[in-house]
Amino acid sequence: PPGRRLPMPEANDELRALAADFNSLLQRQEEASRRLRRFTGDAAHELRSPVASIRVQAEVAVTNPDPELAQETLADILAEAERLSALLDGLLTLARSDAGELPPAEPVELVTEARAAAERLPADSPQVRVSGVVGQAWAHAAPAEVELVLNNLLRNACRYARSRITVSVLAGHSTARVVVDDDGPGIPPEHRDRVFDRFYRVADDRSRSSGGSGLGLAMVAEAVRRRGGRVTVGESPEGGARFQVSWRRAGAGNGEAAPAR
Ligand code: ADP
Repeated sequence: PPGRRLPMPEANDELRALAADFNSLLQRQEEASRRLRRFTGDAAHELRSPVASIRVQAEVAVTNPDPELAQETLADILAEAERLSALLDGLLTLARSDAGELPPAEPVELVTEARAAAERLPADSPQVRVSGVVGQAWAHAAPAEVELVLNNLLRNACRYARSRITVSVLAGHSTARVVVDDDGPGIPPEHRDRVFDRFYRVADDRSRSSGGSGLGLAMVAEAVRRRGGRVTVGESPEGGARFQVSWRRAGAGNGEAAPAR
């Protein structure tokens, strides 16, 4: 039961320290289980809506003989099924991360990854400019993590940008950084702390209708932070959103050989 704590023994310092450790452990455990309960509840809630929609549409298709309407209904069902499957992929990724599964780290070159991510975007996306302030920047990460981060940040930028997206890659003394700027509406300061929370959306209907799961930035934050990296959101000089991700530089005191140039 939450709230139970060991009483602090009066005299013995060692015992007091032990009791304090034990109590802080209890508190962390309670927080973790509260987080897990909320996550499970939120996930069920999020899964319910596409499933309900598929059901309703399928009922329409089954009972209505008009083939044109059936075609439309099937297209809607397909779109909902795709949303559901993206949601499940996200949940699975986060569950693996929660379970502490960490792919092995290796030096990952960010300019190359950023160009590849930009090329994976749909052809009708806003223009993406990749500028490497340095020739190369090697991050201490797993390739799949960098791909996940860039895919999600670029996909979001495309969703909101009016016409331009800039990806800048920088190498510092001990960090390798990616900055993604867009010229969209940006994220109001009061939401910036929470956009990395699971299922959080700034404006519900806007991103629901564009098919977002609300898990993209949560996965980004998780992938970066578990490597000791940092991710922040602010305002881009173009007026839109600016997402900055920094990883530790590969070879910078990671017990790892510096990559060959
Ligand atoms: P979703 O899958 O809904 O896009 P994310 O976790 O990727 O979920 O993003 C969370 C919310 O942050 C989005 O719903 C949107 O409101 C906001 N957001 C993310 N990226 C941007 C951006 N580049 N510009 C404006 N708002 C953004």
